[in-house]
Amino acid sequence: VGSSPMQAMLTAPGVKDRKVLAFKRDALKDKDAVSGLLRSIAARDAVRSAFYVFDLARVVDLHRGWRRALAGVRPCYAVKCNPEPALLGALAALGAGFDCASRREIEAVLALGVEPGSIVYANPCKPEAHLEYAASVGVNLATYDSEEEVAKVKRCHPGCELILRIKGPDGGDVRVDLGTKYGAHPEEVVPLLRAAQRAGLNVAGVSFHVGSGASNTDVYRGAIEAARGVFDAAAALGMPPMRVLDIGGGFMAGPAFEEAAAVINGALEKYFGELPCVEVIGEPGRYFAETAFTMAARVIGKRTRGEVREYWIDDGLYGTLSCIPMDHYVPRPRPLAASRPGEKTFTSTVFGPTCDSLDTVVTGYQLPEMSVGDWLVFDDMGAYTTASGSNFNGFSTSDINIYLAYSS
Ligand code: PLP
Repeated sequence: VGSSPMQAMLTAPGVKDRKVLAFKRDALKDKDAVSGLLRSIAARDAVRSAFYVFDLARVVDLHRGWRRALAGVRPCYAVKCNPEPALLGALAALGAGFDCASRREIEAVLALGVEPGSIVYANPCKPEAHLEYAASVGVNLATYDSEEEVAKVKRCHPGCELILRIKGPDGGDVRVDLGTKYGAHPEEVVPLLRAAQRAGLNVAGVSFHVGSGASNTDVYRGAIEAARGVFDAAAALGMPPMRVLDIGGGFMAGPAFEEAAAVINGALEKYFGELPCVEVIGEPGRYFAETAFTMAARVIGKRTRGEVREYWIDDGLYGTLSCIPMDHYVPRPRPLAASRPGEKTFTSTVFGPTCDSLDTVVTGYQLPEMSVGDWLVFDDMGAYTTASGSNFNGFSTSDINIYLAYSS
């Protein structure tokens, strides 16, 4: 095993304990290399159902990219995006913090030996029992955006510090808009600060989330400016100086991330440059998870209707391809078998395994002739996939194996 971050990751809780097979290989840089790995797994007699490959080396690269582009921002990985223990363990080993949304997520992170102080309980509306649990384990930083939440936190976790979640500016052209549900509107900010003040709860800082998969990176600038306004409003109310700025998630790996980072760094300098003691954190989910996971689903059924081909595979919209309805994932499955030059393709439909006709993965899609037992590969399957699948029809996402891959 080459690099030392990789060494730390391989011995980390969550990684070493995960029921996975580790593959040492030179590079997992391109889709051909991943295909080779998938083929070698699929060739094993014992592998007869959908499986994932999780590329640990990709996580190391992404973490390095984050540190390079957003050096002053500590990533607190949003567990909801993909709670795979090996991913959590890898990120913990790399020094990341965590954004948890529930008791289960907090438990999963603490089980890896992460300090409670590295967790932000970033769900603005929390069940009472979960808050009491957070209090019992010392997770003492939580977001809020309503007066009722202040009263609840006071009752269930009076030692908790608060982060006021504000609504980011509109116009972010996002894949998943969170602003319709969460975030204080500008006119609500002062009343919410006052509510915390009256309750004797400290408001440690401000958070926002511009939306998942934001493509207009300028929204970060507006959100950081608005956050500075909240810091000033708190000071004007005579509250203790705020010390945390949480810039949320929404980042996509690739050029869009570099662009977002440049906007964020500029805005941090402009609006927070004179407040050097402020700790800036982020809650990236998709950035770390999406491109690190590749899924192979097995063809389990076929129907030929003239020139049209219909296939059933063993994962679908009620399984880990739940990212199609939940996360606007656009499936572009490719056969695992190497394509032959000039191979004829057919207009094809691919169904998931459940009896619901909604469980349709693609229609009118060109594929070569496939047979039962063949495999279809889905790239970039790490975000909101295994996390949001169900057990509908008895097809359980937890039956899907995840194989761990890393560069040697
Ligand atoms: N933080 C909060 C509060 C969220 O609700 C989400 C996603 O829903 C995230 C972080 C992660 O977002 P992303 O995966 O877009 O980075």
